[in-house]
Amino acid sequence: DMTIAGFDDVLFDAMQKEVERQEAHIELIASENYASPRVLEAQGSQLTNKYAEGYPGKRYYGGCEFVDIAENLAIEYAKELFGATYANVQPHSGSQANSAVFQALVKPGDTILGMSLDAGGHLTHGAKPNFSGKHYNAIQYGLNDQELIDYDQVAELAREHQPKMIIAGFSAYSQIVDWAKFREIADEVGAYLLVDMAHVSGLVAAGVYPTPLPHAHVVTSTTHKTLRGPRSGVILSAEGNADIEKKLQSAVFPGGQGGPLMHVIAAKAICFKEAMEPGFKAYQQQVVKNAQAMAKVFMDRGYDIVSGGTEDHLFLLSLIKQGVTGKDADAALGRAHITVNKNAVPSDPQSPFVTSGLRIGTSAVTTRGFGEEECANLAGWICDILDVLANGEDTSAIETEVKGKAAEVCSRFPVYK
Ligand code: PLP
Repeated sequence: DMTIAGFDDVLFDAMQKEVERQEAHIELIASENYASPRVLEAQGSQLTNKYAEGYPGKRYYGGCEFVDIAENLAIEYAKELFGATYANVQPHSGSQANSAVFQALVKPGDTILGMSLDAGGHLTHGAKPNFSGKHYNAIQYGLNDQELIDYDQVAELAREHQPKMIIAGFSAYSQIVDWAKFREIADEVGAYLLVDMAHVSGLVAAGVYPTPLPHAHVVTSTTHKTLRGPRSGVILSAEGNADIEKKLQSAVFPGGQGGPLMHVIAAKAICFKEAMEPGFKAYQQQVVKNAQAMAKVFMDRGYDIVSGGTEDHLFLLSLIKQGVTGKDADAALGRAHITVNKNAVPSDPQSPFVTSGLRIGTSAVTTRGFGEEECANLAGWICDILDVLANGEDTSAIETEVKGKAAEVCSRFPVYK
């Protein structure tokens, strides 16, 4: 018997409980989704056994003829899906993809300009504790009074600091980014433009969010968020610059990684192909409609949405006005089987570990079949809990009530049927 059950029951039980949690809880973490059974099949396959350092047709190991087919398919599908002329499908994650671009295009000590973490940027865009903030002279831009990206500030900082690379893209921003404007600023100061579209790549693939491909020198993404694939990364370009492509190739391997994860690359091929199916566009359109339906309920009930609404799959709820912390809200919703993450909001009086906000995303609930009606109801239940928290009253009764409603709706919309 070679099953996990009976070999390590503690581990098996934890794995089983995680599957049950995913079915029975409402998932609103904006960076999560449910991968398809095909993606899971590829990730659990024997391709995990294969060493394939190098690239298709140029490997450092024998026996790569079949994994070469898998990697070439992933590359071709990625290029077709995003209208790219170059794709590297080997980065193990979004952070690995970004670190490869840094290695390819800038040198340690060089100046880079990225969006600050508290404005909605990612750690790898120049945050202090990350390699991007430690080994580079990281300058950070943020939001204006309307809580929108401040392009004037980006341009001023670029002129003043003359960065070698500008990074656009975000982990928590609910409006449309003007990619062309970023390229204009980059061109003015002679900087490379890296767009990290990790959060919106699924929307971009479906044509429901503007594509950065025609504007950036290089585009990176994760493949597990709105794109709904395996937990991994990808680097793309439509710039047609052979020098940049050559540098990217060697920055991924041997610069930053050894053997590629061939089972995950096969799963990425599946994910890119699934994103070209007709249903994917309808899915992504529904993701945005669902986010907008939720945001409307919050605003109608007196809660502030950062930047006043959403044009993508996520939004930030600011609880500053209510005097509720993100930490307490996150914990109360968790007890009602609604999973969110606390998130700093503009002018947040609380520490990054406490915060005054929540980040809410609709990719996962839309995958399991929630429409606008379910999403509006869900936002109402969240308000019911937040209202009690804001009054400083005990939330246990309302948590129990909402937990029951969550169980009912989850049973009507199973994830893996
Ligand atoms: N880039 C952005 C914009 C992200 O939001 C994230 C993940 O949250 C990443 C990169 C990093 O991806 P990973 O967790 O796969 O390293």
